[in-house]
Amino acid sequence: MTRHLQHCRICRHEACADIERAFLNGASPREIEAVWKFASYRAIYRHAHARGLFLTRAEKFHGRIANTVAAAARIIEKVDSARVTGRDVLAAVRISMKINALEEKDRLTARSQK
Ligand SMILES: [Zn+2]
Repeated sequence: MTRHLQHCRICRHEACADIERAFLNGASPREIEAVWKFASYRAIYRHAHARGLFLTRAEKFHGRIANTVAAAARIIEKVDSARVTGRDVLAAVRISMKINALEEKDRLTARSQK
């Protein structure tokens, strides 16, 4: 870690906390490279690995999915006694599509890190 600190452009960057926050909120290294005008996204990958940000982001991502699924399960448990409108069905379809898109993004991210 000391060697990383000595050589890492991200650690020494004045916006390091903002960069890490963006990464943890789902920004890709290439997006961060573009926003903060880095010469290469590879330094962002190295920094994220050294600081354990991939694991933190994955845990945060899975926590959000687990919360959403738990909330959906509570709603689904009441489906037999609830009045469901067309609007409710469309909202459920939209949520399902978002979850699928998040899971696909997670799969692609995991595949790109191999
Ligand atoms: Zn660093």
